Amino acid sequence: MTATTSDKAAKAPKPAVIQVENPSTGEIIQEVPDLTEAQVTELVERARAAQPDWAALGFDGRARYLKRMQKWFLDNTERLTRQIHEENGKSIDEATIEVMYGVLASSFWAKHAGKYLADEKVSSRSPFVLGRKLVIRYEPLGVVGVIGPWNNPLLNNFGDVIPALAAGNAVVLKPSEVTPLTSLLMAEMCLAVGLPEGVFAVATGSGATGAALVEQVDGLMFTGSTRTGKKVAARCGERLIPVSLELGGKDPVIVLADADLERAANVTLFSAMHNSGQTCTSSERVYVEAPVYDEFVTLMTDRFKALRVGESTGFGTSDSGSLTFPPQLDIVSRHVDEAVKDGATAVTGGRVKAGAGRFFEPTLLTGVTQDMACMREETFGPTLPIMKVADADEAVRLANDTAYGLQAAVWTKDTSKGEQLARRLQAGTVTINDALANYFALELPMGGWKDSGLGARHGKDGIRKFANRQSVLVTRFGMKNELHGMPFKAKNFNALQKLVGTLYGHPRDTKG
Ligand code: NDP
Repeated sequence: MTATTSDKAAKAPKPAVIQVENPSTGEIIQEVPDLTEAQVTELVERARAAQPDWAALGFDGRARYLKRMQKWFLDNTERLTRQIHEENGKSIDEATIEVMYGVLASSFWAKHAGKYLADEKVSSRSPFVLGRKLVIRYEPLGVVGVIGPWNNPLLNNFGDVIPALAAGNAVVLKPSEVTPLTSLLMAEMCLAVGLPEGVFAVATGSGATGAALVEQVDGLMFTGSTRTGKKVAARCGERLIPVSLELGGKDPVIVLADADLERAANVTLFSAMHNSGQTCTSSERVYVEAPVYDEFVTLMTDRFKALRVGESTGFGTSDSGSLTFPPQLDIVSRHVDEAVKDGATAVTGGRVKAGAGRFFEPTLLTGVTQDMACMREETFGPTLPIMKVADADEAVRLANDTAYGLQAAVWTKDTSKGEQLARRLQAGTVTINDALANYFALELPMGGWKDSGLGARHGKDGIRKFANRQSVLVTRFGMKNELHGMPFKAKNFNALQKLVGTLYGHPRDTKG
């Protein structure tokens, strides 16, 4: 008996797919392919073939495409906002912030890439290079891999693609399997703005797809957990390719007695609850000086109680959206339950909200101690533990008592005291009387210390990481041989020693 076409179709292995869910409703909204290693290889090969012509366009040529992207972001804000909201669960307002970042970033890198990667002449006093021209210059890495998380489907995914492209690289982006649709929309945008074929591709898939990408690219930008980041960095180390890592955080907020408490409460509310706390730079714990502790807790309690939790249907309809990733509900619940069991008080919330979706009630915790999971581990949820401290010294000591070092905030009307405290905090960024605002100053590098990562996003470091640096030394008018050249001659070395003595023989401040 011969098999029919439909029998064969039934027996053929089904291509692996990933189902994408709307976390606010639980509804499956789309399926995307789970790319195999061979399919990732194909994308990288296409990118490698396209990259030299892309690099040859130069900064101005590439900037033209980035400006078209900027226009596309503006023209398609509503559609893109809906897409981010639908697959991530964040409010429409917060999704729009991501789109605004797309506008800013495409404009910023179009303007600054050439400046940050321009040839740089340097001078040297060294007697060994007198009269030489010294230049530092940059070349694109080739094919860059970007591996992104689910919390910011645009900002922490295509957001990093933009500077990599501006530097002259081709890019393959592996978004989280939880939120791949925004990245696919970015591929559609690249087509619409006429980006040359192969210069940008999206590799949808699971962790294995990401691991396959790490094997093939010439440099990597990774955003996600410290656990996976360390694995990825180890493999990049074995392959000796540059890697930049933006990982977790447990960002402290220090509120001193002289702070503008109302502003501190409002801004901390946003920095803790933005994206339902699913932000690596969200405020995760607060230390308040004793004299203002009660007043600050009252201000925060009022604000937490007023938050509207639920699916956003338009601007200003919800303050706290759904958690995106199913395991987050367990992590957040565990941190709250353990804290309460050990004596803390959930002044507001404390539970999963009943009904469809993955909503967690905004939870303010008091009576916490430094050893609780809610004060030590990344919660990544809509909770905020607040602790009373005796003074600024105690606050700094507790703030630094963590494996992480991403961001910190200090609140005081005495800004010079704030700046002094900032210097004692182990964090890649410190804001004084503010939080998160630094992310929108793309001139300012943003990166973590300790377990929060390596390298930086934004600023000149945020694009130089996507380039190979080359130092060029040019000798235009050289002698027939160098003083230190062979065969060695005593009189030449005596002269060299004298020259070094003349130039460097009188160091100041050698006492003490
Ligand atoms: P991961 O670090 O596991 O995921 C980040 C990205 O890496 C995703 O695209 C993921 O793919 C991919 N990935 C997973 N395994 C590998 C691998 N072996 N090689 C290459 N890429 C891989 O984070 P989770 O999504 O599991 O979240 C866990 C925790 O991380 C959260 O609870 C939160 O605390 C923190 N987090 C921090 C973020 C930040 O902004 N720094 C963002 C998101 C989470 P896939 O999703 O398909 O598995």
